[in-house]
Amino acid sequence: MTAKVAIVTGANKGIGFAIVRGLCKRFDGDVYLTSRDVERGNNAVEELKKEGLNPKYHQLDITDKHSLEVFRDYIKKNYDGIDVLVNNAAIAFKNSATEPVSVQAEQTLFVNYFCLVSACEVLFPLLKTGARVVNVSSSAGHLSKIPSAELRRKFIDPGLTVPQLSELMQGFINASKQGTHAAEWGNSSYAVSKVGVTAMTMVHQRTLADKDIKINAVHPGFVDTDMTSHKGMLTIEQGAEAPLYLALDAPDSIKGQFVWFTKEIVSW
Ligand code: NDP
Repeated sequence: MTAKVAIVTGANKGIGFAIVRGLCKRFDGDVYLTSRDVERGNNAVEELKKEGLNPKYHQLDITDKHSLEVFRDYIKKNYDGIDVLVNNAAIAFKNSATEPVSVQAEQTLFVNYFCLVSACEVLFPLLKTGARVVNVSSSAGHLSKIPSAELRRKFIDPGLTVPQLSELMQGFINASKQGTHAAEWGNSSYAVSKVGVTAMTMVHQRTLADKDIKINAVHPGFVDTDMTSHKGMLTIEQGAEAPLYLALDAPDSIKGQFVWFTKEIVSW
């Protein structure tokens, strides 16, 4: 029997970094700080080591299939499987960004939605019985951000599959290229990407209903990080609280839910 394993993506800074810190303090097993950039990742590990914590490190770029597979093979070789997976890595264009919406749509959905789907495809076969998956979504990932009632109906269709959801998400990219997205989808690529994250969470939980695996989406609050240009009110430790709750403390009955930074379940 090998040690238990917890993994956090995009953990070299921000909320992911604080989630690793919290897991190092409380998770009974090996905690993996992963990052796309090795130097940034190692610096983050060193920072935690100075605090007396002992995270392990592995490179992981969720946009790189090879990187995902190398990491999967490493975990497969060294452990019995994954106990906790926190899908935290994401990008956001700044409000001041000058890239056309079609470029923002393609790049944001690529990282935040499509590569998250790939990461789950590669890593989910390693999830152990009893595993917990936490998908870091956002208040922007609430269904109410989608203006079209017809689209909202599609997102919550109980028969929705991941390929159908991906097709739906591609529909936003296509509409943004034609400049026809605003009425149905709104103007925020980030919001659409996170609606995809929340919807994917629900679909995955349904798909894995016969397994003892808990998958939830979380809004971490408005947090002081690079992503928010440090305008968020919460510290990264406060932003990590709800993800840590879902990873470690939430009752097993909480699955396939959208959970707020206050730890309340929100109807999405
Ligand atoms: P940061 O920008 O501070 O951190 C994002 C992290 O994701 C960085 O470590 C970044 O690495 C990493 N990342 C980006 N792309 C990739 C990739 N391809 N592969 C691996 N890692 C990657 O953001 P936050 O800490 O604020 O955000 C963390 C999560 O919380 C995100 O999912 C975000 O959408 C969500 N969120 C944040 C809110 C906030 O108020 N801050 C509010 C709601 C949701 P690198 O340093 O190399 O760029």
